[in-house]
Amino acid sequence: MAATAELYQELVGRLKETSLLGSCVNVLGWDEQTYLPTQGAEHRSNQLGLLAGMIHDRATHPRVGELLGELGQRSDLGEPDSAPVVNVREARRYYDRATKLPKSLVEELSRVTSLGQQAWVKARKASDFAQFRPWLEKIVELKRQEARCIGFDGGVPYDALLDEYEPGMKVGDVQAVFTPLREALVKMVAAIAGASKKPDVMILHRRFPVEAQRVFATDVAKRIGFDFEAGRLDVTAHPFCNGIGPGDCRLTTRYNENHFPEAFFGVLHEAGHGMYEQGLDRGAYGTPMGDSVSLGIHESQSRMWENFVGRSRPFWSHFYPQAQAHFPDALGTVSLCDFYGAINDVRPSFIRVEADEVTYNLHIMLRFELEQPLISGDLNPADVPTVWTETFTRYFGIVPPDDRRGCLQDVHWSGGMLGYFPTYALGNMYAAQLYNAADRDLGGLEGQFAKGEFQPLKEWLNKHIHHKGKQYRPQRLVEMVTGEKLSPQPLIDHLWRKFGPLYGVGRE
Ligand code: ZN
Repeated sequence: MAATAELYQELVGRLKETSLLGSCVNVLGWDEQTYLPTQGAEHRSNQLGLLAGMIHDRATHPRVGELLGELGQRSDLGEPDSAPVVNVREARRYYDRATKLPKSLVEELSRVTSLGQQAWVKARKASDFAQFRPWLEKIVELKRQEARCIGFDGGVPYDALLDEYEPGMKVGDVQAVFTPLREALVKMVAAIAGASKKPDVMILHRRFPVEAQRVFATDVAKRIGFDFEAGRLDVTAHPFCNGIGPGDCRLTTRYNENHFPEAFFGVLHEAGHGMYEQGLDRGAYGTPMGDSVSLGIHESQSRMWENFVGRSRPFWSHFYPQAQAHFPDALGTVSLCDFYGAINDVRPSFIRVEADEVTYNLHIMLRFELEQPLISGDLNPADVPTVWTETFTRYFGIVPPDDRRGCLQDVHWSGGMLGYFPTYALGNMYAAQLYNAADRDLGGLEGQFAKGEFQPLKEWLNKHIHHKGKQYRPQRLVEMVTGEKLSPQPLIDHLWRKFGPLYGVGRE
């Protein structure tokens, strides 16, 4: 019988090779989104298709199944939650998901979502849901099949889809936090909408030269802790962060000369994702212990740096003089107070990606409200626009004028990413909880921000979140670090504490 250590090393070797191939896909994907000439698109998609097949073959190789089966029975693998036990547990999870799906379903999903995305682009442009409807019907049906293949307890197929993005999370867990959060936010949005205080947002629409934006955003990202020796920032149409591997993390943004927040807060957001990638344990690269834990926790990092840090008053009491020096024409005569008010403008709007810190979560809950019945079969895809409009109006108090600014605005459904949306709002709740814990541990973050000190928070996150890899499931990780279960209350408290005084409104 082979020694446990030998089998484990063989498994790790295979996992690392698969990760290396995956990181090649990431480089090509990054290049595709940034510098690829238009005529290279077809060749690139051939390259990516070949690699995707190679990765799938390796990940589902029968030898991996044998190794996992054998190692799963070894009592001398390690202590609970030790690296070998975690790596085998998570590799098993990944292997099971990959092998439960028949190749025919995977290929059909890939084909339909690729065509579905093209149909969505056209339908959105024409603002015509009817054009996208047949594709949504196909995609929903395939995702229902996927849920059945993966399996779920308790009769909730959506659980199987959610689990891909937020391991261990169930619809019931999400509902338990979304319901009180929604009630609090609907009240808060109505109170703010009725407030007589309104910031002057036009100051952010003055001319902000692109090169000055790039220099300033790069400098601030560096100052909060993103390492440019191990990463870079480029321009793209749809910003993202791509952690290619140890020492190589790519951020992207897009600049709007007449709207300052777009690129600046986008860079802070992606730098938050990037610092997570840069903070992973390099020695564990290629194994689950060296990988991020979930989309929700990833989003908690980006939202913390973007909103809790980057839209706070102490952050700007430190950086505002520099902003004025970079943009003398636009901000030279604008007070810190007016600027702070403008970057924290709250108002109901139709487009999720342009939403503010308060209304954003309502956009997410709306999508969650539709996705679940679509997957359970209780909602017919043809009824999506009607239900969207009805729910949106109830949450926001305004009526979406068309499909483009309604149910056709996001790429996710056309790409088959059902179950993804809740992680955005989970990220905001996790961010509030983690921020409070860091604040307690580090003795007052705001005082540090005002002095331009961001290293303590970054190192705290490195230690408590990034270095942990996939050691614990997201909900358990947050409970261990903060001492409390996932809860919407810290986020609700944070929002009232911040926006109450800004708008002169109170809780009741
Ligand atoms: Zn993000």
